[in-house]
Amino acid sequence: MTMTETLAPAMTSGAAPTSGDQLRNDWTRAEIAELYALPFTELVFRAAEVHRAHQAAGEVQLATLLSIKTGGCPEDCGYCSQSVKADAGVTATKLMDVREVLQNAARAKDNGSQRFCMGAAWRNPKDRDMPAIVEIVKGVRELGLETCMTLGMLTPPQAEMLADAGLDYYNHNIDTAPERYADVITTRTFEDRLETIDNVRKAGINVCTGGIVGMGETREDRVGFIHALATMPQHPESVPVNALVPVKGTVLGDMLADTPLAKIDDIEFVRTVATARITMPLSMVRLSAGRESMSESTQALCFLAGANSIFTGDKLLTAPNAGDDSDAAMFARLGLKPLAGPEPLRAGCGG
Ligand code: SF4
Repeated sequence: MTMTETLAPAMTSGAAPTSGDQLRNDWTRAEIAELYALPFTELVFRAAEVHRAHQAAGEVQLATLLSIKTGGCPEDCGYCSQSVKADAGVTATKLMDVREVLQNAARAKDNGSQRFCMGAAWRNPKDRDMPAIVEIVKGVRELGLETCMTLGMLTPPQAEMLADAGLDYYNHNIDTAPERYADVITTRTFEDRLETIDNVRKAGINVCTGGIVGMGETREDRVGFIHALATMPQHPESVPVNALVPVKGTVLGDMLADTPLAKIDDIEFVRTVATARITMPLSMVRLSAGRESMSESTQALCFLAGANSIFTGDKLLTAPNAGDDSDAAMFARLGLKPLAGPEPLRAGCGG
């Protein structure tokens, strides 16, 4: 898609027309940099307008993430405690038994999750792993949950197997700006990431891709990160925005510990969310890792700026996360509701 396309009808009446009324994938970096640098209240206001015009404001999707195969990953992602290169005390496990995965999924559903995301610490799944993965996808779907998997790089036939099993979403983060990629990961390239995302798209699976801020990058890098997402041929249906959880024993955790860069500035984080919302109006923008160390006020600003999805549960793969109880209390205080029913129809963008 190189032309602009008209969006789905506004979900709330009386929404003011905004720059988000056209779905664009021809954003220039300069335009995104300009948005990012707007006075903060103006940026959040614009993002909230776009959000209200195209999403069910006040509703937040709940997703649960389960690690179905932890640790021992041959990749060297500098942020990750599951890499074999990290010394973060993570014990490697085998692929979780199908029944155990389904028990976890049933619990997540009871706790209000609509989507069950499953992550395996692999560079790529081996073909011998695929039958169990397919069984898991089918089983979780039968429970009435949306399914999402993150398994590393996929070949076209593997993506098609997952599509045939009914997988709804595949997560494969672009991690950071293209020009920063080699500073964070050396065992694969940015282009490798795009190739798997392309395989997933071609198989007809919805794309979940985002990345991490707070890895010592500059604002210009964050602009590049959003630009890479917002100029994809089709916007990702889900855009997770993580704040780095610096873990001791990981490359970035050790490098950034005790420096002013150890935590992304809250305002800068909200700016990233707002810019993602304005440039990708129909995507679900998800607060992911790092949320447990964010104040409720910062999270509230993120929701105002267009974040509309969170991971619930006590653990995000291996990192701590805000628990279900504290999220329920926050939702009550902020008057937020879990997203009801299926996501809004996405015309034009991947719909
Ligand atoms: S982020 Fe994923 S691919 Fe990278 S080391 Fe961790 S588990 Fe492996």
